[in-house]
Amino acid sequence: MKERYPTKKIFVGNVAIGGDAPISVQSMTFSDTRDVEATVEQINRLHFAGCDIVRVAVPDMEAALALKSIKEQIAIPLVADIHFNYRLALEAAKWVDCIRFNPGNIGEKSRIKEIVKACKERNLPVRVGVNAGSLEHEFDRRYGATAEGMVASAEYNIKFLEDLDFTDIKVSLKASDVGRTVDAYRMLRPKNSYPFHLGVTEAGTLFHATVKSSIGLGALLLDGIGDTMRVSITGELEEEIKVGKAILKDSGRAKGGLNIISCPTCGRIEADLVSAVAEVEKRTAHITASMDVSVMGCVVNAIGEAKHADVAIAYGKGSGLVMVKGEIVAKLPENQLVDRFVAEVEKFVSSGGL
Ligand code: SF4
Repeated sequence: MKERYPTKKIFVGNVAIGGDAPISVQSMTFSDTRDVEATVEQINRLHFAGCDIVRVAVPDMEAALALKSIKEQIAIPLVADIHFNYRLALEAAKWVDCIRFNPGNIGEKSRIKEIVKACKERNLPVRVGVNAGSLEHEFDRRYGATAEGMVASAEYNIKFLEDLDFTDIKVSLKASDVGRTVDAYRMLRPKNSYPFHLGVTEAGTLFHATVKSSIGLGALLLDGIGDTMRVSITGELEEEIKVGKAILKDSGRAKGGLNIISCPTCGRIEADLVSAVAEVEKRTAHITASMDVSVMGCVVNAIGEAKHADVAIAYGKGSGLVMVKGEIVAKLPENQLVDRFVAEVEKFVSSGGL
């Protein structure tokens, strides 16, 4: 796997992004930000699910004024998402940990200067967030909504900030399809060293968003590109975090939790493996240590897999084996195997894997 691309380290609140910092997972609320109670409830749900940074939309001054109260009631860094109105950015900058705005859509340079001054005073970074669906007119006309247009827009917005001696920047280049998204990030990556916020935008429902994000973000992460990320899902908030963390883990960019190897089952199956794996997943969701475990439907491949797993189950006809580091520790009836397996996983973790 490629080394991570060396990027500048910035801080969004107490979360480092870029450099050697772990790749963080972000999300965004869908409540009306003016409704403080609903927004805090969503942020706290995300926090509980493992979200590192949360973003809220700030469409008007009432929403900007609500940020103070929201910030007081949450414990993760808060990003304000601003479009067009510089006054919203100035109000938000008093309370949040990062502003997402594109200088190009704010207009007059004096207004951009004011936002940058406010960010400098509070050490707030800025996310330049390019979206293929809302490129500046000039780039849309010249390139259309292509990866080239997205990169040109990002460079244009970055230059605005650099010209004001502001470099606490992270950059996103999102499109609703994988190809353009990946092309844009790959194209821009060698041109600067700002940390990248990865995402395929408007990716759809859980199934489609998981597939698109796994391909797109996975490809970039394997390339060493990406410092923070969001999986956009039309669905439950917690799913974004769960899928994001899984993509990080399975692309080898994060450690922790169980890597569950389970067979797809076939005509040789002699047990209810689908239910067994679901139960294993549920009962081991709290494990944060890195472990490989296998749950296999018959002896054909189970013993081989178990040799490489920390803890394993090999099902047989009405009974099966529980194995630790390739050694059989119990032969039990089918209905006792998961209980013993979970006990062995917990023992393995508490003994430090010895
Ligand atoms: S482990 Fe056994 S049941 Fe599972 S797919 Fe392989 S042969 Fe089939």
